[in-house]
Amino acid sequence: MPARRVTKHGERVLKTPCPLVDFPALKSELPALLKDMWATMASARGVGLAAPQIGLSLRLAVIDVKPEGKSQRLVLINPVLLSSEGEQKKEEGCLSLPGVYAKLSRAARVRVRALDEHGEPWEMSGTGLLARAFQHEIDHLDGKLYIDRLPFEDRLKVLDVVKGVKPTWD
Ligand SMILES: [Zn+2]
Repeated sequence: MPARRVTKHGERVLKTPCPLVDFPALKSELPALLKDMWATMASARGVGLAAPQIGLSLRLAVIDVKPEGKSQRLVLINPVLLSSEGEQKKEEGCLSLPGVYAKLSRAARVRVRALDEHGEPWEMSGTGLLARAFQHEIDHLDGKLYIDRLPFEDRLKVLDVVKGVKPTWD
C-alpha cells in the first residue's frame, strides 16, 4: 500500500475539473488505486483525499472523518451534491496547501449521492465535519481549492503563505 505524492497548490491537475469515472473501465484498477489513496490519506493525516491530489483527473474521492473515533471509510465515485442547507464557519485546511488554514463558510448539512467501490449507488446526509469533507472533496473534483471560496480580504491574508507553497516531489 504505497502512499503516493500529494499534489500541491499550483499544479495544473488541481485546477482542472475531473471527468466522470467510467466505472466498468476503471473497475479492475480500482482496488489497488483505492489502497494507495487510503494509504496516502493516512500518512498525510487527512480526513479526505481526492484523485487529483495524487495526480489523477477522475471524479473519485475518499473520506474518513472517524465519527466517534471509529473509522468510517466512504468511497465517492462520481459524487453529486443533492442538497445543502444552513451554514457553518470553521477553520479548514487541505493536504495540497500544507501550513495554510482559514475560516470558511460552508453549508451545515448536505446530502450526497455517489457510487461506492463496487459501483453501487449510495446516498448519505452529513453534518459538521462530514458535511465539510463532502463539500471540500467535491470542490477538488470541480477543480477548486477551498481558498478559491474565501472572501477577497481573507484570501489576501493567506496569499503570502500560499505563495510559499511550492510543488514538492517527496
Ligand atoms: Zn483538499
